[in-house]
Amino acid sequence: MPKPLNVVAGVDMGATHIRLCLQDEAGEVLHCEKLRTAEVIAGGVVCGIAKLLVAQLDRLNARCRGMVMGFPALVGKDRRTIISTPNLPLSPAELGELAGKLEDALGCPVEFSRDVNLQLSFDVAQNGLQHQQVLGAYLGTGMGFAIWLNGAPWTGAHGVAGELGHIPQGDMQLTCGCGNAGCLETVCSGIALKRWYDASPRSYEIGELFNHAQQEPFVIALLAHAARAIATSVNLFDPDAVILGGGVMDMPAFPREALVAQIKQHLRRPLPHDSVCFIDASSSSFNGAQGAATLARSCFLPALYVAPQQAALG
Ligand SMILES: [Zn+2]
Repeated sequence: MPKPLNVVAGVDMGATHIRLCLQDEAGEVLHCEKLRTAEVIAGGVVCGIAKLLVAQLDRLNARCRGMVMGFPALVGKDRRTIISTPNLPLSPAELGELAGKLEDALGCPVEFSRDVNLQLSFDVAQNGLQHQQVLGAYLGTGMGFAIWLNGAPWTGAHGVAGELGHIPQGDMQLTCGCGNAGCLETVCSGIALKRWYDASPRSYEIGELFNHAQQEPFVIALLAHAARAIATSVNLFDPDAVILGGGVMDMPAFPREALVAQIKQHLRRPLPHDSVCFIDASSSSFNGAQGAATLARSCFLPALYVAPQQAALG
């Protein structure tokens, strides 16, 4: 029997799908799979994740050295506490001590992260930006946002930094999913876009919205809100680069160039206006899980971890 292979696991747990990625010590992706969250956790979340992982470890004759798991949630500074996750069907009893229970079941260290930080980790690695200061704006179900500083996602004093979707720049008559009134996401998110689409009969599918409705006042306003919010973050952080992505920006005919032009209108001149660059996020649905596995490698196999940019130079 050959010596087991050392691997790390990245898991991206969304409301609908759960994605698993396994990487070896060199960062090579050994396995990616996507399953329905409801099916995986039907018999309990710990049992479901363990079964998923053990099946692949057996197949690869591998030993898992650590796992990073992403949630659409506020995750505490300790990287183990899930503070708030309105979109996941998990009970408080299941969320309590979840990291410890997973560690017991898997026999390796486990850390949690907010999903958007994993997406940004992937995009930063993909573009060789590890040594730069980078913002990620992901207009999807919500208005996702993440900050890359000093070689890692920057999470603030309590682990919850970067909630751009919840700045009070929305419709004060509307209550956000977070419970506050008037958050940006009430007017600038996939949820807001769907609410507008569902409010009247339309002659097109929602997926074709930008082919048909770019001149609608609501859509014009949504893009202006996004531009002002992203410009505000750029004027505050002065980043090298801004990564733009998310499900809404991935829709056909999304006016990306017009959005970037509108963002730039609001940037301070000459800087950061003249220097900041805008980069498209790649839109593979495994980015979050791959970002999680890359973070797991840097956390749990640090002696062996070589950042992709250094690898390219060396
Ligand atoms: Zn909110």
